[in-house]
Amino acid sequence: METREEIKQELQDLADKLERYDEAYHQKDAPLVSDAEYDALRRRAEQLEAEYPDLIPANSLSKRVGFQPASGFKKLEHAVPMLSLQDIFDEQNVVDFMERLHKFLGLDPNAPIDIVAEPKIDGLGYSAVYEKGRFMRGATRGDGTVGEDITENLKTIVELPQTLKSTDLFAQIPNLLDVRGEVYMKKADFLALNEEQKSKNDKIFANPRNAAAGSLRQLNPAITAKRKLSIFAYALGAYEGTPFKTHWDFLQSLKAWGFPINPMIRLCHNTQEMLDFFHELGEKRASLPYDIDGIVYKVNDLALQKRLGFIARSPRWAIAHKFPAEQATTILNKIRIQVGRTGALTPVADLEPINVGGVLVQHATLHNADEIQRKDIREGDTVVVQRAGDVIPQIVRVIKEKRPADSKPFEFPKLCPVCGAHACKEGDDAVTYCMGGLTCPAQAMERLKHFVSKDAFDIQGLGDKNVEQFYALGWIKNPVDIFTLRENYELQLLSLEGWGQKSAVNLLDAIEKAKTVSLSRFIYALGIPEIGEATAKLLANHFITWQTFANVATSPEAISKLTEIDGVGETMAQDVIDFFAEEHNQTLLEKLLNILTIQEAQKQSDNLPLKGKTFVFTGTISMPRDEAKARVQELGGKVSGSVSAKTSFVVAGIDPGSKYTNAQKLGISILNEEDFKKLLDAQLK
Ligand code: NAD
Repeated sequence: METREEIKQELQDLADKLERYDEAYHQKDAPLVSDAEYDALRRRAEQLEAEYPDLIPANSLSKRVGFQPASGFKKLEHAVPMLSLQDIFDEQNVVDFMERLHKFLGLDPNAPIDIVAEPKIDGLGYSAVYEKGRFMRGATRGDGTVGEDITENLKTIVELPQTLKSTDLFAQIPNLLDVRGEVYMKKADFLALNEEQKSKNDKIFANPRNAAAGSLRQLNPAITAKRKLSIFAYALGAYEGTPFKTHWDFLQSLKAWGFPINPMIRLCHNTQEMLDFFHELGEKRASLPYDIDGIVYKVNDLALQKRLGFIARSPRWAIAHKFPAEQATTILNKIRIQVGRTGALTPVADLEPINVGGVLVQHATLHNADEIQRKDIREGDTVVVQRAGDVIPQIVRVIKEKRPADSKPFEFPKLCPVCGAHACKEGDDAVTYCMGGLTCPAQAMERLKHFVSKDAFDIQGLGDKNVEQFYALGWIKNPVDIFTLRENYELQLLSLEGWGQKSAVNLLDAIEKAKTVSLSRFIYALGIPEIGEATAKLLANHFITWQTFANVATSPEAISKLTEIDGVGETMAQDVIDFFAEEHNQTLLEKLLNILTIQEAQKQSDNLPLKGKTFVFTGTISMPRDEAKARVQELGGKVSGSVSAKTSFVVAGIDPGSKYTNAQKLGISILNEEDFKKLLDAQLK
């Protein structure tokens, strides 16, 4: 028996975990755990909370919906909140739901209550507001009260009507209509998108839901426009128009106005019909062109819906009956380590092939070293594998009773399996990275592209495509090869198909010119993790010469000397140190330094534009705080941790703290992120 104190602690731990998972899922479109794992934690929390209502923590999931909007977006308040749905997993829960409805409404247990059963589309909820039949604005659900403004993004979705079709068949065009529904991506479009992403070396999406959410929630709607998104409409928010009697009628009107309505929606008259529909759809699920994760049952009669009302975060008149995750048991033969283009080491499980819900599964992702340790996954184990929709299959757990007697815990490699450089965990991040950045073949091409990019060596004529071509030919495998291209391959280049004489000569000249480079560009080009353009400038301005920088970075006092620089934190300093400590990198640097002339940085002049100005930051801004700091310092300004009469500007992001009120009291200029960026840009002109 757990003590009350233990239960309180468990509830708090669950709430913290779910909050973290919600942020990753809803705000970042990058879930940390599978839905099944999330749902299991959520159920455990609900069960404990029902038993111990006085121990419910303030940040409990039962008190909120989704997650607050991300900071980059404008916010839109919902006139009628967008809520969540209570989830159920068993058939008995459906029977219980119907019983609860009857009881609440004071009806005879056998009295009919019509239910509309709808496939639960696995996408991202949206609200689209129409005034006098014209689409005006749209938002994500956000935290239910305030969502992210995605008006422009929604306009790019062809299936969403911009104006409502006029019809007097079911209802006139209403004065105000807030339609809610789901933006989703068809399975085929998801696979095609990932293919395209792969060919561009861009982010691969884990499943259609994440792809849809990631595509819709773009600050640049032009990106949304390029993605194939689809919609269904299924719910009503604010409304001023001819009233409806039933949800079914409302759906017919939506259809008449031009919205796509799911063709499988069914009107059920009793519990048995609901369950039949659940089974039917469960069987069809794998062959549908889009992912669904369950069925939503909704009371059809709107007058009854009104009487039933809401419980905290969800309506009492609706419920989501979730499909079970598709699981199977098999043997894990081997744990293999893949090295991605960013240098991340990802463990993959090679499985004894097994059929999971009609799909042959041979591999599962193991995410990272921590996940393997947490679940104690070993080679030779019998494991439960799960796939949901098109997600990369995952290992849910190990069946320990079946573990071979001679099994040993898996040891995560300390060296990169591709190039042999050291592999280190970065900061709080559970991911292990290969430190052989510039020389590791797994990362080489991306690193090379970075090396020659505009803010690094800026070599005209050596764009991504050409880097890829030369890499494939084996002419450029590391940065040194760029500068010996003329020496080794001039003749071949001049006769290379697709290359004119002139462009080849221009490229070789541009490479020649690039042999003289500024210190900051050189540091940035090295692609040391965390060292962006602004930090590279900061380091260059501080050390003035490459030699001083290299000497400090390889000295025993490196960490303290580097962190002395305002704007360089401990993680950054450690990344610099790790970079220099790697033998592969040292060899490469030596060769590069023989070829290149690295210009000294200009001594900090006294007339930098922000000289004498002190900035204080509070709240969250979209630019990383270190980068913001570095940009101020680069222009001669100072950054301080507290507000005083000497502060020149307070930059206030989302949820600013007491520094904001202090600044107001002292009458100090307060800048929002946009003002701040404008101010920086103005100094650079
Ligand atoms: P929910 O997704 O279970 O249910 C509510 C949502 O269902 C609505 O907002 C709507 O967008 C959607 N929906 C689809 N079809 C619908 C229809 N026909 N009618 C009405 N609504 C429909 O609830 P939630 O609180 O938004 O999210 C919780 C779920 O999201 C979890 O059960 C889990 O599966 C997933 N989740 C996963 C993680 C993770 O880390 N893997 C984190 C958070 C949430």
